[in-house]
Amino acid sequence: ATGGDQQGGPTTTTAAAHFVLVPMMAQGHAIPMTDMARLLAEHGAQVSLVTTPVNATRMAGFVAGVEEAGLPVQLVELPFPAAEFGLPDGCENVDMLQSKDLMRNFLEACGALREPLAARLRRQRPPASCIISDMMHWWIGDIARELGIPWLTFNGSCTFASFARYIICRGNLLDNVTDEEEIVTFSGFPTPLELPKAKCPGGTCIPGVEQIREKIYEEEMRSDGRIMNSFHELEALYIEFFERTIGKKIWTIGPMCLCHRDSNAMAARGNKASMDEAKCLQWLDSKKPGSVIFVSFGSLASTTPEQLVELGMGLEASMKPFIWVIKAGNKFPEVEEWLADGFEERVKDRGMIIRGWAPQMMILWHQAIGGFVTHCGWNSTIEGICAGVPMITWPHFAEQFVNEKLVVDHLKIGMEVGVKGVTQWGSEQKEVKVTRNVVETAVSMLMNEGEAAQEMRMRAKDFGVKGRRALEEGGSSYNNIRLLIQEMGNKQNAYV
Ligand code: UDP
Repeated sequence: ATGGDQQGGPTTTTAAAHFVLVPMMAQGHAIPMTDMARLLAEHGAQVSLVTTPVNATRMAGFVAGVEEAGLPVQLVELPFPAAEFGLPDGCENVDMLQSKDLMRNFLEACGALREPLAARLRRQRPPASCIISDMMHWWIGDIARELGIPWLTFNGSCTFASFARYIICRGNLLDNVTDEEEIVTFSGFPTPLELPKAKCPGGTCIPGVEQIREKIYEEEMRSDGRIMNSFHELEALYIEFFERTIGKKIWTIGPMCLCHRDSNAMAARGNKASMDEAKCLQWLDSKKPGSVIFVSFGSLASTTPEQLVELGMGLEASMKPFIWVIKAGNKFPEVEEWLADGFEERVKDRGMIIRGWAPQMMILWHQAIGGFVTHCGWNSTIEGICAGVPMITWPHFAEQFVNEKLVVDHLKIGMEVGVKGVTQWGSEQKEVKVTRNVVETAVSMLMNEGEAAQEMRMRAKDFGVKGRRALEEGGSSYNNIRLLIQEMGNKQNAYV
């Protein structure tokens, strides 16, 4: 078995560190954790990835990839007690919840994995070297402490947004703010940051999960450190400040999506694509470099039918080629009717509509893509950064508004579409927040030859290069992965 020495070179003196990864069952959290598993294994660690049967079937592409590469990754399936918690049988992922009111049931069902997981870890010989779990699985802290295994948390976000949320929680900044529009100042943040309450991380909470959320925040503070899907060069200032503030190591080991190096691997990431990847590539090949705008709002954000129609009209008016992802959960009869009633025909030469799951990474990496309209989920954001494409930011909820600030104000690789309010996940709102004219103007500005757009494009490309360098031999994230494996391997050997 190999470990790593101080310089990151292999040695034969230590047992391979064994990482147990426990992702949250939501695609925005689980996908980067499968990437993490792959990266750790590529650097010599042994990895067990804990999941549930339905989620395991969604990981078929990931499993095939690690098997083909001969990587020491094992999938550990624990039965998910959906029915016991009032969920339909087989409802094992947040994107399968019929209503946000079931979120509490879902989180409680996750909590019921505690004993089966603990029993398994108690039996493990030699003991696992490190547990990395999603912060949502707050109950894992107890298991790690009982067994004396180092425990790192992962929250799927960047350091900028994690630090912003920490400041809100530590100072209870939202407690006495009754007006959703009142501006909250993030004092203690390294650079000026202000947001209306509703757009703050934690500004709105899904009813029924308030207490669980408290536990999640509390336990995250007790973990031995945090794993971040980011890289030092992207947010160095915030990483340094945050580490100093919490007195714990922030392991930036991203951009994790870069563990996929060819378009087949990229296409196999996440769910099975709802269209023919080869056709999509063919379509992209037929377009000029940098000419296509890609529009996708991640795996959870619910965009209202009215807003979808308005967005479509804006795309049409912009006259630019586009790929527009309308996710399965957004299948509204009125939108389908509208698409069929002339829209698809009118844009057929320059517009591709994907209904369901898109091979996002494969698309973003294609040279024809010149811009990305994103909801600013962190995975999409960092994928856009790695692909070197400028963005139009269209946040919906949670820390997406903070990510927008990072992209627009600090990295300067995107422009706001100008979302006024929050569209909470699973909400039934009807209003149109962004009009077709605004969409048209934003797309035209981002995709044109003007100076501002050119500069944004250059900066985006530059961050893309830096992101790739971070994971190359000797890069910041590469070194962090080696150090992490070494540190955890040494602890394990001391224990054995
Ligand atoms: N994704 C994808 N195809 C889709 C929708 C989403 O590949 O049709 C992937 C996307 O590349 C990203 C993840 O799913 O890796 C979504 O995570 P993100 O943090 O962007 O948003 P969330 O879904 O958590 O809001």
